[in-house]
Amino acid sequence: MATRFIVIGGGPAGVAAATHAARLGAEVCLIERDVIGGAAHLWDCIPSKAMIATGGALSFLQRSEGMGLETVTPHIDTGNLSDRLASITGHLANANNDLLSSQNVNIIRGTGRLVGPHLVEATLEDGTVQNLEADYVLLSTGSRPRVPDWCQPDGQRILTTRDAYPPPEIPEHLTVVGSGVTGVEFVHMFSSLGSKVTLIVSRQHVLPDKDPEVAYELEQNFIDRGVKLLKGARSESIERVDDKVVVKCDDGRVVESSHALLAIGSIPNSDKLNLEAAGVEVEWGYVPINEHSQSNVPHIYSAGDLSGKLPLSSVATMQGRKIAEHMMGVTNDQEHRYISYSTAASAIFTEPEIADVGVSQAEAFSQGRKVRVTKVPFSSQAKALINDDPRGFVKLISDPATGVVLGGSIVGRHAAELISIIALCVQNQLTTADLAHTLFVHPTLSETLLEAAE
Ligand SMILES: Cc1cc2nc3c(=O)[nH]c(=O)nc-3n(C[C@H](O)[C@H](O)[C@H](O)COP(=O)(O)OP(=O)(O)OC[C@H]3O[C@@H](n4cnc5c(N)ncnc54)[C@H](O)[C@@H]3O)c2cc1C
Repeated sequence: MATRFIVIGGGPAGVAAATHAARLGAEVCLIERDVIGGAAHLWDCIPSKAMIATGGALSFLQRSEGMGLETVTPHIDTGNLSDRLASITGHLANANNDLLSSQNVNIIRGTGRLVGPHLVEATLEDGTVQNLEADYVLLSTGSRPRVPDWCQPDGQRILTTRDAYPPPEIPEHLTVVGSGVTGVEFVHMFSSLGSKVTLIVSRQHVLPDKDPEVAYELEQNFIDRGVKLLKGARSESIERVDDKVVVKCDDGRVVESSHALLAIGSIPNSDKLNLEAAGVEVEWGYVPINEHSQSNVPHIYSAGDLSGKLPLSSVATMQGRKIAEHMMGVTNDQEHRYISYSTAASAIFTEPEIADVGVSQAEAFSQGRKVRVTKVPFSSQAKALINDDPRGFVKLISDPATGVVLGGSIVGRHAAELISIIALCVQNQLTTADLAHTLFVHPTLSETLLEAAE
């Protein structure tokens, strides 16, 4: 009899695990209550980047003079913008459905929960209940925006990250609460779409976990385009007063704006999974995992945001894939068996774009680790001048003794694409010499990496 595998939650983790396990011969059932593709496609990665791309097109047109063109003044059509987002997410949902169907994955539209160690209950959209037996289960139900008790989002003017695609009107003045990755992406998104933006920064800098030089570059860009940064302030209440939103901070400062957006993290969707029925342990709402993504109950895996590892779609997908291989007993090379979370590349889709991977300069410094740091500005590159965008730099971190590439940061146009070259080096322990001796295309921004590797 084929291995029976039930996946609860069809985001990146669930879809990857289901497809791959089916390819490897499992009989797979995927339960999804909303959209196949998950929050990643419906609210998070995809619509946010689509809105950012629209803002990017707008700013590009507004400064087309630098490309030898007459400047034009485009205006935003929120109806068209909504259609564009719906079309992208619809297209991706269909592609995922087709992929799962092509592998004979049984897609169940409904809500899943555990009712025993090997038994899953699915409540279908019409209210009927099915009980499904499983040899293995994957919990991949993702997370949702964290809403503190001092604020009541209304989806109109007080928004979570899920209410912004696009709002009925582009906010005249938006206050963003939270200056981590999500917060700064929304600052960039709305300021490039024409909103006046105030960012409440609880520490002294945005992106407290990133290389300070990188964070500085972004702050400067925000300041240059008129974003107001309120540093060292924590919001303690957000209220609607007439047609205004009033944000009060713990140091007495008050911001009045037309809209406010909360970007203060997320909480895992574990509360309705009835985990105790199978004895699955939870920590702060997450289902912790071992190196194979197994929970404390070995035949029950957890992946994606629910697993409490890096909350990235790319990581969720890789976990899903590895879970399928582990469950089906695929014996990979030792080095491909585990996920190396410390070498996951990540990006922030602001302007300039920011991306990093592996060891950062600040991290090496705080650990007293000897590293070689080379930094090359894009302003020295032909392609950056051709693009009329010489902002930013590439920073490469390597081992001074062996030349092995340990990490890197990139600030500038296409940083999110370029970082993959450094990620490949870090993951495979390639050296700066390997990089420097590769023939890249000229003129390209990627040549900056070759120069940094010299
Ligand atoms: C604004 C924002 C932007 C982001 N941008 C990026 C980005 O650019 N790149 C990146 O890598 N990451 C990004 N992320 C993070 C990324 O979205 C998540 O890490 C990713 O979605 C996690 O995937 P997942 O499979 O764990 O779950 P999700 O994508 O959250 O999907 C979980 C699915 O489970 C379903 N579900 C939940 N409970 C049940 C149940 N009981 N029964 C059935 N179905 C259920 C949900 O409906 C959902 O479809 C962003 C996050 C946010 C908030």
